[in-house]
Amino acid sequence: MKAHDGMYIDGAWRPAAGPGVIEVVNPADEQVIATVPAGTVEDVDAAVRAARAALPGWAATPPAERAARLAALRDVLVARQDEIAETVTAELGSPPKLSQTVHAGVPIAVTGSYAELAATYAFEERTGNSTVLHEPVGVVGAITPWNYPLHQIVAKTAPALAAGCTVVVKPAEDTPLVARLFAEAVHEAGIPAGVFNLVTGLGPVAGQALAEHPGVDLVSFTGSTAVGRRIGAIASGMVKKVALELGGKSANVILPGADLARAVNVGVANVMSNSGQTCSAWTRMLVHHDQYDEAVELAAAAAAKYGDRIGPLVSATQRDRVRGYIARGVAEGARLAAGGPDSPHERGYYVSPTVFADVTPGMTIAQEEIFGPVLSVLRYTDEEDALRIANGTVYGLAGAVWAADETEAVAFARRMETGQVDINGGRFNPLAPFGGYKQSGVGRELGAHGLAEYLQTKSFQF
Ligand code: NAD
Repeated sequence: MKAHDGMYIDGAWRPAAGPGVIEVVNPADEQVIATVPAGTVEDVDAAVRAARAALPGWAATPPAERAARLAALRDVLVARQDEIAETVTAELGSPPKLSQTVHAGVPIAVTGSYAELAATYAFEERTGNSTVLHEPVGVVGAITPWNYPLHQIVAKTAPALAAGCTVVVKPAEDTPLVARLFAEAVHEAGIPAGVFNLVTGLGPVAGQALAEHPGVDLVSFTGSTAVGRRIGAIASGMVKKVALELGGKSANVILPGADLARAVNVGVANVMSNSGQTCSAWTRMLVHHDQYDEAVELAAAAAAKYGDRIGPLVSATQRDRVRGYIARGVAEGARLAAGGPDSPHERGYYVSPTVFADVTPGMTIAQEEIFGPVLSVLRYTDEEDALRIANGTVYGLAGAVWAADETEAVAFARRMETGQVDINGGRFNPLAPFGGYKQSGVGRELGAHGLAEYLQTKSFQF
């Protein structure tokens, strides 16, 4: 990637308004690998003005042309896939294979899906004596986290651009480098000046300035529930639209009769992938008491196998937070079946893949999002008990059900208070709506439902 000092605003790299910088650290060896400017209110203001100025032109661009630009963007992402993967590995610490397949691969698939949706979506429809237009909401302020740094940006930018909105992104301070690479890709793809803008900076400064800017029509935020609550309050105070993708504490429910070894192994892999920094991870495994001991043994063995394949956490803060939760689990009486609070390496922000047994539903580790490679195995007595435990948190983002047959798993999944459920190991689908029930968020991302978030309706009566 080229070295840039500034912000990507109005189709060019412009010097930042202030002198502040943010150091980017490689979490695997704790070395500073780059610095990026710490954006200020002035930078955010310049970016929002550029996005506003570009809005009428982009909104009026025929969907087929918007689709063509998104297809070009996908092609640039494909051409730069190795560079994207290397950048994410450097700033997030994810293993190279995961960076290739997920951190670079998923954004390519999502951008491609919106190239197709922009070309085929019914932006106008008839109902009775009316024509309903689906028009872009306007200028989008997108605030994203570090855990899937490019995916989170693309999951907002691609549907926004498909809808005809213009965008200002404020990426997470820990992972701004892949965001800058994405801005280069947008430029290469020939997306007009001002349609996409990037301001790096700290959350409480640049992020807050973006959420509060009167020129932003929709704030789309992914991150912690604590910050999401603040953003929601700011947006509702200004009567702005808001989308919130927040935390999770998802349940992996293994019903009697399921393939226990498969359900446990896939469940452990789901939690350990990306070092547990996945909001939709199934961090609570629910097992019938008759199979409980066997499941714990299988989970501990699977976690131990993960040991040296796992990357570090993104930062020292995050590592310390996760180790604090592990200590809390022990203090509250859960039993360590694998892993523990000690770091497996001298350098880098590593945490051992950890499995807790004898976890009860009220424990902190069964209620709060840990965001690290930590699995809690809980026992249930019957299906009603399993359902009560599965639904017994403030969150409702994802989940899994395993049963002897699909019908039984689906019957259980229908009663879960959560936004998505994988049935007997169902695969990720970039077209399926993603988002939370309860305090996991407001709104949906991905596919046609994700596109609808960036549209508002106008009706003509004839
Ligand atoms: P975070 O909330 O601290 O930060 C997210 C983003 O918000 C960053 O860009 C940050 O700079 C910005 N921010 C921080 N304070 C702000 C403020 N006062 N005003 C405006 N912006 C501000 O979260 P994080 O630590 O980066 O990410 C981890 C959390 O994100 C976890 O809780 C995780 O579950 C959640 N998450 C949810 C999803 C989802 O789709 N539901 C996806 C990824 C992460």
